Amino acid sequence: MSSATIVIIEDEPKLAKLVKISLESEGYTAFTAPDGRSGLELIEDKSPDLVILDILLPGDMNGFEVARAIRGFSDVPIIILSSRISEADKLMGFQAGADDYVTKPFSCPELNARVKALLHRASLSASARASSKFVLGDLEIDFSRRRVFRAGSEISLTQTEYSVLQYLAQNAGKVLLHEEILGRVWGPEYRDEYQYLRNYISNLRRKIEPDQSKPRYILSKPGIGYYMPDS
Ligand code: CA
Repeated sequence: MSSATIVIIEDEPKLAKLVKISLESEGYTAFTAPDGRSGLELIEDKSPDLVILDILLPGDMNGFEVARAIRGFSDVPIIILSSRISEADKLMGFQAGADDYVTKPFSCPELNARVKALLHRASLSASARASSKFVLGDLEIDFSRRRVFRAGSEISLTQTEYSVLQYLAQNAGKVLLHEEILGRVWGPEYRDEYQYLRNYISNLRRKIEPDQSKPRYILSKPGIGYYMPDS
């Protein structure tokens, strides 16, 4: 039995109720919202441990947009429910920040198993991140809180900028190929989008480097990749 709290954003009342009852029978606390906007409010209100999110929702936000909005303020694991499950949709969902997919129609035991697995993964990565910090000169990255500081002042990064920086920091001392960074942060389909990466690196440098013309934290190996020094 688990005491995790789960928010379900699903507009079909019968399905929402069925999922809620099934999760509650596993010991979870579950809340439902019938559209994206009220779902976001519920997430801010309840700070759930996991979100189950339908893609086709009434109102002005579909599930992809809701997932992106959630990622603006939370790392909560997201399972997307979808009946249309093309590879393109999957990619779009993962880019929007979803962690897993369940295809409609699904059985409640199947969904419960995915919920359990994802909560388990999330707790493992939370404990791996806890108390881990990266310090290089004036730059400090607090992985557990996903926050970045330079000389003690917090630097505001987007989710993607943070992901690039985190990947470089966790591999400090090692040159990461352009393709590796693109594949890791954006997904395998993006391995050739060098310009994408250049833009993000230049934004990151503008934010974290004291002197952009002489980068200290994010260094280039022209034509190969980027790296952060390890001391
Ligand atoms: Ca729906």
